[in-house]
Order: sequence, then structure tokens, then C-alpha cells
Amino acid sequence: MRIFSGIQPTGRKHLGNYIGAIQQWVADQDRGEAIYCIVDLHATSVPYEPDQLRAAAYDTAATLLAAGLDPERCIFFRQSDVHEHTELCWLLCSVTAWGELNRMTQFKEKSGAQRDLVSAGLFLYPVLQAADVLAYRAEEVPVGDDQRQHIELMRDIAERFNARFGETLVVPEHRIPTVGARIMDLQSPERKMSTTGSVEQGTVYVLDEPHAVLKKLRSAVTDSGSEVARGPEKAGISNLIEIMAAVQGRDPAEVERQFGGAGYGAFKQAVGEAVVEFLTPVRERFGALRGNEQELEQILERGAQKARAIAAETLADVRTAMGVGPVRGRR
Ligand code: ATP
Ligand code: MG
Repeated sequence: MRIFSGIQPTGRKHLGNYIGAIQQWVADQDRGEAIYCIVDLHATSVPYEPDQLRAAAYDTAATLLAAGLDPERCIFFRQSDVHEHTELCWLLCSVTAWGELNRMTQFKEKSGAQRDLVSAGLFLYPVLQAADVLAYRAEEVPVGDDQRQHIELMRDIAERFNARFGETLVVPEHRIPTVGARIMDLQSPERKMSTTGSVEQGTVYVLDEPHAVLKKLRSAVTDSGSEVARGPEKAGISNLIEIMAAVQGRDPAEVERQFGGAGYGAFKQAVGEAVVEFLTPVRERFGALRGNEQELEQILERGAQKARAIAAETLADVRTAMGVGPVRGRR
């Protein structure tokens, strides 16, 4: 079983990323051949600062290692170090419909939020993401609920490629967590917590100090009711129940039973404390890892070598199937 997933090094990673993706990544190291990537090329699809991008890739690498990724038990690398991703992106464009890309909600949301340039990179983002996964012939992609549409698209791309050029690519399956697949913004609980589209107060960062976490949870937006229970009119409280369940590895119904009549104030305090307990060990390990950029660079380079070996094989098959370059092995 081969598993692939990626994470953007945009800014600081948040609780949604941690629960929706990173936590599964760590667990999946024991389930199969796990391949994880810091997708720095994706981060260039919106305005960014070059120095900050490089630093954020180290921040993200240290965060993931602090969370428990073990470079001996998984392949862990930086996307831009493996050129096969961008080449495959271009080749896959030939079996991707413009109209499909135009329907992607992430594109609509993110392009709507740009003040000046809406880059072509933002439009092509899902094709590069398809290339990331398909280059490894991965069978499973553990990601949050927001990526549902992109995974469907990459499945269509793989199927269309195979139908057009012969069986070459593996059609991957989406895997989303049962609890915590969509953590919402604490200030605007109708929107997902996001790296690029949220305000500070609505976003719990993995590296936030305990007092900041507690304050953000205390000021989380809730409805005017008083019962700690999930419901369609209760986006804020439902989100807090989901967060509590995810960080404590419990069922949301059990959280409701425990806190049903506790009142919103006491419940928010309890969620804050649970999140602090959950994130503190990660923040402490991060501190120890982040200082040594040379070592982080070495870890990423070793990962890239292993990744390249797999991706280069797929690319050779894809090029042959598409009639691009010489026949495999003949030069
Ligand atoms: P952006 O909003 O700029 O796209 P992001 O916060 O979604 O950034 P990514 O690096 O794109 O960060 O996502 C990394 C992983 O985290 C993906 O698997 C994504 O599905 C998951 N994820 C992102 N936001 C949430 C969320 N609010 N709840 C659960 N999972 C999430
Ligand atoms: Mg995202």
C-alpha cells in the first residue's frame, strides 16, 4: 500500500492541518509505504516573499518531524527538489479539461480573494497536485475534506490518461478522517480554518503559546443558546465539539454527554486546555529541531533522492506512452 500526501509551507500550520492531515500522516507510517511532501511550488500560486517561503519550508519540515514523522519510516521531501512533479504537471495538462479547472471551488475562492494578480498557477494548482500523487502511483491520499474535489479531479485525470495512452497510472483513493476532517475558523465558523484565508484570532497555530491558544478558544464565536450539542444552527459549538473529540481521540457524542449542561464558558475553557495539552509536546520538539537548518536540509535531500527514484520511473513510462522523447531505454 502506497500513501502520498502534501502540505503547503505557507505561513504557520494550524490545528485544522494538524488534525485533518498531519495526525493521519504520522499514523500511516505504520500502515504502508508513506510518502510526504512539502509542496513549496504550490505556495508560489498566491503572492509570497521568497525569503519567507524558504524559511517556511524549514518551519513546516520541523513541525512535521516534531509531530512524529520519521524519515527512516517514510519518504519525506520538498516538492521543488524533484523536478518530475513539474514535468508531469505539464504532461497531464493534455488530459485535463479547462472547464473542469474552472469549476474548482478552491480556485474560485482563492482567486476571488486576490487583490491584484490571479496567477495561472492558481488555476493549474490541481494539475500539479495530481502530478504530485500520480508520480508515485500512490493508492491512498490522506487529506482534509476541502480536498475532495481535487482528488476527484486527479482520479479523472488518471482515468483519462489510461484510456487515452494505455494503463500507466494508478487511480488513487481519497481518505479523510472520520473526526476533524474540516476544522472551522473560530471567528467565522462557516469557513474552514485556513493558512491563507483566516484572521489570527480565528486560527489556532500548532506553535501558538498556551496563553494564546486559551485566549483564542475563550473568544471563539458561538450561538446564543446554552446546550453543548451539535446542530445545524450551531456551527461554532459543533466545531468546538469536533476539536475536543479529535484532540482527545474520543467520539463527539461522548463529548456532548460530558459537557451537555456545562455552559459555553466552561466548555470553551476545557477545549482550550485540551488543545494546549495536545500541542505542547509538538511545540517543544519543534524548538529543538528548527534551529538546525543544515540537518533539515540533509533530511529533505535524502528524502528527495528516494522520491526521485520512484517518480523518474513513472515519468519514463508516461513519456513513452505519450510519444514524448525517445522510446524507453533507447537513446
Ligand atoms: P490554504 O487554505 O491556503 O489552502 P491550508 O490551510 O488548506 O492552506 P494546506 O497545506 O493546503 O493548508 O493543507 C494541508 C492539509 O491540511 C490538507 O490535507 C488539507 O486538506 C488539510 N486541511 C486544511 N485545512 C483544514 C481544516 N480546516 N480542517 C481539516 N483539514 C484541513
Ligand atoms: Mg489548502
